[in-house]
Amino acid sequence: MSADSVKVAVRVRPFNQREKNANSKCVISMSGNATTITNPDNGKTHTFAFDYSYWSHDCFKEENGVFVSTDTKYADQNIVFNSLGKGVLDNAWQGYNAALFAYGQTGSGKSYSMIGYGPNRGIVPITCDELFKVIDQNTDKNKQLQVSYSMLEIYNEQVRDLLTKPSHGQRGGLKIRQHPQSGFFVEGLKSVPVRCYKEIERLMDDGTVNRTTASTNMNATSSRSHMVITIKFKQVFLNEFGESTTKSSEISLVDLAGSERADSTGATGDRLKEGSAINQSLSTLGNVISALADKAMGKKKVLVPYRDSVLTKLLQGALGGNSRTIMIAALSPAGINYEETLSTLRYADRAK
Ligand code: ADP
Repeated sequence: MSADSVKVAVRVRPFNQREKNANSKCVISMSGNATTITNPDNGKTHTFAFDYSYWSHDCFKEENGVFVSTDTKYADQNIVFNSLGKGVLDNAWQGYNAALFAYGQTGSGKSYSMIGYGPNRGIVPITCDELFKVIDQNTDKNKQLQVSYSMLEIYNEQVRDLLTKPSHGQRGGLKIRQHPQSGFFVEGLKSVPVRCYKEIERLMDDGTVNRTTASTNMNATSSRSHMVITIKFKQVFLNEFGESTTKSSEISLVDLAGSERADSTGATGDRLKEGSAINQSLSTLGNVISALADKAMGKKKVLVPYRDSVLTKLLQGALGGNSRTIMIAALSPAGINYEETLSTLRYADRAK
């Protein structure tokens, strides 16, 4: 099992229309913490154990060609938040950083888990809402609580501020600098102070629109970039002499680029460059997380390769140390995605 600081969850989404039309079979089954995937061609199985497994669709058993509804393991957004997001928040109150990632192929449910769609709010909005619910209850005049929000994307190893409107033809990204004490940071990135959940909601919407516009301008899709939302949270305590002490923490919430391999889509030119940048940063992230897990297990002389990608440089402060790291691996249930789903499970397995 994972060391306490790194937790891995798997979440399977319902069948989509394309999978239903293709009459694709369900190849995933879950029992307790065990997730089993069955090769639809030869029936061979692989079983993995994760800290959390979420069965998100209500049709996992096929009887006479019909999917039978059962809700024994149905995990909705609140269940996922309660088991993953709550811990992240508790950590933040104690002054520790946290990072939560969603990994998986495009269409597997990463954005659904992180941001959500319409009334099905995902972990990011619920976490922010819960944070402000607690802040709003604070009546202690000697305790000030400050929150700020930033949102960026990494595309082809270039950083773009999602709270700034993209300009047409914009190519260059923001610069990454290194501070001797606090580590890597993005120069000029907007970090907007927020006073209530509604303000975060508005920023999140603006950022999402900017992300879509920017990727359209560059003739790409947003599934080819990593999106990082950072909530900075500061608790300032004043004593009777008017002196202050502070507790700061950062919560990084990351919707990763689709993990499908470039070679599986026959990419050339820009798409190939995109694909190899994604492969490089996802494999570096995997290496960083597994090195951290080894370290937490007491292994000595572990080198954590933060510097090998922009993503891991920027998340250095949110990974390792007393930070909490959570990875959600998003899975399609359908046989037509068997290869990609198996590689997602293998990736998640390595992170433990
Ligand atoms: P990704 O971000 O990985 O590309 P999305 O989150 O956009 O994928 O999910 C693809 C589709 O599947 C969306 O229409 C989404 O609403 C649906 N979906 C994903 N996960 C779930 C889930 N757990 N429950 C219900 N619908 C889901």
